[in-house]
Amino acid sequence: MSSTRPAHEQPEMHPSRWGDPARAGGLPDGARGLVEMVFGVHERPALDAVTLPASGLADDLLESLRAVVGADHVHTDDATRRLRTRGKSTPDLLRQRSGDLDDAPDAVVRPGDHEEVAAVLAWAVQHHVAVVPFGGGTSVTGGLVARREGYAGLVSLDLVRMKRLLGVDRTSMTATLEPGLRGPEAEALLAAEGLTLGHYPQSFEHATIGGFAATRSSGQASAGYGRFDALVVALRVATPRGEWRLGTAPATAAGPDLRQLVLGSEGAFGVITEVTVRVRPVPAERRYEGWRWPDFATGTEAMRTLAQAGLLPTVLRLSDEAESGLNLAHPDAIGQENADGACLMITGYEGEPEVVEARRAAVAAVLEARGGRCVGAEAGEAWVRGRFDAPYLRDALLDVGVLVETLETATFWSRREAVYDVVRSALQASLGEGTLVLCHVSHVYETGCSLYFTVATPGGDHPLERWLAAKAAASDAMTAAGATITHHHAVGTDHKPWLTREIGELGGSVLRAVKADLDPTGVLNPGVLVP
Ligand SMILES: Cc1cc2nc3c(=O)[nH]c(=O)nc-3n(C[C@H](O)[C@H](O)[C@H](O)COP(=O)(O)OP(=O)(O)OC[C@H]3O[C@@H](n4cnc5c(N)ncnc54)[C@H](O)[C@@H]3O)c2cc1C
Repeated sequence: MSSTRPAHEQPEMHPSRWGDPARAGGLPDGARGLVEMVFGVHERPALDAVTLPASGLADDLLESLRAVVGADHVHTDDATRRLRTRGKSTPDLLRQRSGDLDDAPDAVVRPGDHEEVAAVLAWAVQHHVAVVPFGGGTSVTGGLVARREGYAGLVSLDLVRMKRLLGVDRTSMTATLEPGLRGPEAEALLAAEGLTLGHYPQSFEHATIGGFAATRSSGQASAGYGRFDALVVALRVATPRGEWRLGTAPATAAGPDLRQLVLGSEGAFGVITEVTVRVRPVPAERRYEGWRWPDFATGTEAMRTLAQAGLLPTVLRLSDEAESGLNLAHPDAIGQENADGACLMITGYEGEPEVVEARRAAVAAVLEARGGRCVGAEAGEAWVRGRFDAPYLRDALLDVGVLVETLETATFWSRREAVYDVVRSALQASLGEGTLVLCHVSHVYETGCSLYFTVATPGGDHPLERWLAAKAAASDAMTAAGATITHHHAVGTDHKPWLTREIGELGGSVLRAVKADLDPTGVLNPGVLVP
């Protein structure tokens, strides 16, 4: 098959908000009263008319960059540079909203294929310019905030033009995609072939294939389809030392799996220019439903039973008492009373009808035996309808002065309860009274699970400082308890101070050695990931 491009491209996000600007809205009716009561409302208009620091790239450097990719693909205007400044964490949004655009790139360069990416890297090495690979810009860990001191400038290497489905191998059930394809664009191209990737992180609408690989992303259907790193079979990477192709067989004993050095490398080792992924047929049936549990501990034990029995549905998640009480799983119903009792679990099944039916029956038998009560399809369907909406709600809450942010970790089942307790306590202690800490189990494995926390608290006069202190306390607590600093958000700059606690000084030294080999002059994402 010849390569194809998406028929419809995803819109650009607003520079200081999440998602499609056309979908931005205020607080849902049910939520406004609750917000007023719990947090108070202090309207915080964002500063949208701000001036950027002038581009610091010398004219002759810009001229030579234009010669590499064409003048149409080098941008120095304020609007484009602003759209490529930082990611979409709450600290990123708070900084943008306060008019702080100090991290803006000097230029945005948009190569069209692997060769142009390689040529941009060669240009960057020659002139010692820092390069930040930019996918969807949905990083929540400071992965797009590179150090610029000591460099002749900093450019955002925007992969937005690289959006082709390059090929499908139907016999092996793999597809090769370019890195700039956003989630819906990749799914639309694959759907035209009767295929799906099945990777649905909450940032699905704007994050890219290259970004998923570079951050080891995990989607909401990871129980059925697997984490993104588990889907990748081959990679093509442009590095300052040349092209690197990895992945020639479904499995190999040819030394350590070097694909794993690229997966999660966050633009510090090279630019991913092609990703070959395992694909599946578009499911003939999708079925979602809700279950209620008397408490979080009983529900998580049931999840463990399912995972260890090899009986996972495609989607499996469980909200704790606080999150279930708030109806966060479907934002339209926020503030409405839960007649059904404590904790809400969502189960989803995708595949051929008979497989869906058989798996559902087997899972339901376990859940009933462990004390769960099925509350039907409506709860599941409501979750599906609202599953990409929460980031819009965060914007609406920031608008009225409520600080909202999420953080996540993973741990073994034997430590699940302890990690849950220490992280919650650290957040509560740091942020004080009037703080809501919500949690759900978002991904499960045979040996453990991830815990995803959402925090809402009055922002006060210094919301950014308030959050950074709370995040540090939570990060200390999770690493002291032996949990990972991140299950799927990656390291970026925000988690870097905790990385060697997890991988050891030796691990840090290995990362530095790889960086020194692949990027000897250090132009790629300086300051990101590598301790
Ligand atoms: C509201 C919201 C919800 C989210 N939900 C989830 C979730 O459910 N699951 C999840 O896993 N994550 C989630 N995230 C985090 C984020 O979406 C993921 O980390 C995502 O994989 C990043 O993809 P991106 O294309 O936006 O990458 P970017 O943000 O553009 O980049 C991320 C990092 O990867 C590097 N990079 C990007 N593209 C390439 C490339 N082609 N080659 C080399 N390096 C590259 C960048 O330099 C940067 O360091 C969420 C974020 C937000 C804001």
